[in-house]
Amino acid sequence: MARRARRYKFLDGKLDWRGAIGPLQCDRQLTLAKSLSQIADYLPLIQTYWHEKIVRVKLDEKQPDRLIFTLTQTGIFSSKEYYNFWRKNGRRQHWSVRVWLNYIPPKTSGFMWKILHHAIPVDLRIVTRGIPIMSRCVCCNNPHQEDIRHLFFKSEVAQSVWRHFGLIFRIPWAFESVKHALRIWTPKPKTHSTYVMVRTSVVCHIIREIWIARCKVVYDGGVMTATDICQCVLHKVKYLGIVHRPHQMSTKSQLLQLAALGIYGPQPMVRRGVWHKWEPHAVGTYKLNTDGSAKEEMCTGGGIIRNSEGGIIARFSAFFGKGTNNYAEIFAVAVGLRLCHSLGIGAVVVETDSLLTVNAIKKLGVAWDLEYVYWICMQQIRPYHKITQVFRQENTVADRLANWAYTHKSYQEVFSRNNMPQEVKAAYISDKLGIANFRK
Ligand SMILES: [Zn+2]
Repeated sequence: MARRARRYKFLDGKLDWRGAIGPLQCDRQLTLAKSLSQIADYLPLIQTYWHEKIVRVKLDEKQPDRLIFTLTQTGIFSSKEYYNFWRKNGRRQHWSVRVWLNYIPPKTSGFMWKILHHAIPVDLRIVTRGIPIMSRCVCCNNPHQEDIRHLFFKSEVAQSVWRHFGLIFRIPWAFESVKHALRIWTPKPKTHSTYVMVRTSVVCHIIREIWIARCKVVYDGGVMTATDICQCVLHKVKYLGIVHRPHQMSTKSQLLQLAALGIYGPQPMVRRGVWHKWEPHAVGTYKLNTDGSAKEEMCTGGGIIRNSEGGIIARFSAFFGKGTNNYAEIFAVAVGLRLCHSLGIGAVVVETDSLLTVNAIKKLGVAWDLEYVYWICMQQIRPYHKITQVFRQENTVADRLANWAYTHKSYQEVFSRNNMPQEVKAAYISDKLGIANFRK
């Protein structure tokens, strides 16, 4: 199993091909370091899938080859990540996202888990276990045999509780099973608004409170009443919106439904957006904006070099092939800086919207799968380069240039403003005029 999550990283290249990736089955002694000098001879023997990856390999003789655990950024094995990898790839029950939520008390979630596994000692369950008892439910005036379906959904008390809340939330209240109830009551369990929190937890609380009331009657005597259960449920959900701050807004009609329950939770803070625009740098200096983009496993990059008046010095739009967004972001900086060097531009301010790239270049660490492209980038970096992160809204021209590469699928660099694609031109002109873009 662990093979799926491991990979080799070539550093001194002493590992033989077979042990590492296995495209060269013929020669078990041949190391990557040996073959890399005459790679053109070997490429025809290797599956095309590997070509691109092999060409990117940069050897470093000082460090031995490394075994990488692909599920962590550092490449070091972590049992936690490995456990999560298998857990997430396993089968997922629809009810788990509706029951295991941070705003539902663990006791209630645990009870729901038990009932979903039929592990509640209702009379019928005890009978099926071989203990002969006379079953007589405590939830109806005309007693029935007590099983989960009857007690929680079909009994007189249960029906009036479901009807009470069903009318408030305007949803059907006749259910056949716990799973059925969960599906109907919690259509979008991941939304984090007061309304969804209340509606999702109500269904769990109703089921647990019915059970608590039933046990109370069985052991202490008295009668089960729907009013008591409704009040207990209401008490449990009343302060949900205050204890667990919602992240999303509830709509007007949802707020009315909550008001009918006597719940007046706060709405989340509405974040005010800010206007951002591209700013030219000090007179006599240049600014390079780069951006990477990834779509359907392919990635591209774009960038533009402008002078202090916002005039174009050069632009590029490049198709990088297979790769991730982060790969493209770093590679775009490298390509942009190479262009600067070839134009003889020294002090340049680099702007990218990727914080990861900025952190990598500031030597704050980089993930194992980006190390090769990071090296390529670091070869272009000089001490006088300044790199900063900007918002996407300040980086629109580079963004459009990166997107344009999906159309032409090649590397293009241009040194004038002529023949600019329409969408790039629009962004370029609005930057030059100092028009800001809104960021929510
Ligand atoms: Zn009953």
